[in-house]
Amino acid sequence: MKRTHWIRKTHLFRADEYICSRCGASCGKPYKVCPNCQSEMGKPKYSPSWVDEAEGLSALLDDDW
Ligand SMILES: [Zn+2]
Repeated sequence: MKRTHWIRKTHLFRADEYICSRCGASCGKPYKVCPNCQSEMGKPKYSPSWVDEAEGLSALLDDDW
């Protein structure tokens, strides 16, 4: 059986999210057991979604003209 884990998503302007790899539930904290599907969680995986957001931000702030 595949292990379930939290996929951590960080955001520049709001709190981190943890997405259940099994049911896709989103939580504000990496609980030991998913409150939605009751799977036991392994180590959270880091998903650097903030990189995309930071790139979008630097494009907005690009004043190299
Ligand atoms: Zn779940």
